[in-house]
Amino acid sequence: MARILVVEDELSLRSTISYNLRRDGHEVIAASDGEQALSAWAAGPTDLVLLDVMLPKVDGFEVCRRLRQSSSVPIVMLTARTEEIDRVVGLEIGADDYVTKPFSMRELMARVKAVLRRRDLLREEMNRASRQAEAVIEIKGLRIDPARRRVSRGDEEISLKPKEFDLLSFLARHPDQVFSAEQLIENVWGYAAMGDTRTVPVHIRSLREKLEVDPSNPRLIETVRGAGYRFAG
Ligand code: CA
Repeated sequence: MARILVVEDELSLRSTISYNLRRDGHEVIAASDGEQALSAWAAGPTDLVLLDVMLPKVDGFEVCRRLRQSSSVPIVMLTARTEEIDRVVGLEIGADDYVTKPFSMRELMARVKAVLRRRDLLREEMNRASRQAEAVIEIKGLRIDPARRRVSRGDEEISLKPKEFDLLSFLARHPDQVFSAEQLIENVWGYAAMGDTRTVPVHIRSLREKLEVDPSNPRLIETVRGAGYRFAG
């Protein structure tokens, strides 16, 4: 199941939560203050954090803030008073959810289950997206293999520079769609390169020279006047 870090200074509550989580098949690491929580966190991978707000040494808000600096682990805050709830909800501390004390174990276990399910769905979604990004594209006699970063036409291997490969893969994955230079910069080069779109026509020209039978009369990567470029599918 999951490895869960339980941070709660009240012994009886900490024991009850830990007992119930273990009974549901989870592995539990228990901490009774903020410092312990941070060292337990550093000691190994954690799937979920149940985090009390009022804690000795380092409080739950601060623990949450520090975990968020390096991790997107699901965090469920355990809050006692209305003012704590206001802070959990109002401040951008980055918790995923909260339960208010007193809560029933049934309620807490249901919340844990929901948060873990959400995480699993997100993982599946990301796996699906990365599988799709790795899938071989066959179009117009070209074979584009993202995993090996190779392009071939029949037996002939076509040697492309890294960004040429990325640009071709992106266009070929969206045949017949027109993309402006700005959109191509954003999707292929990333935000860091925003603002300088002159590199796009340079790469398009170079791709045409390597791929087109007649680069001056392109049939694969077409220019759509005033709009951008499109891979003819
Ligand atoms: Ca407390």
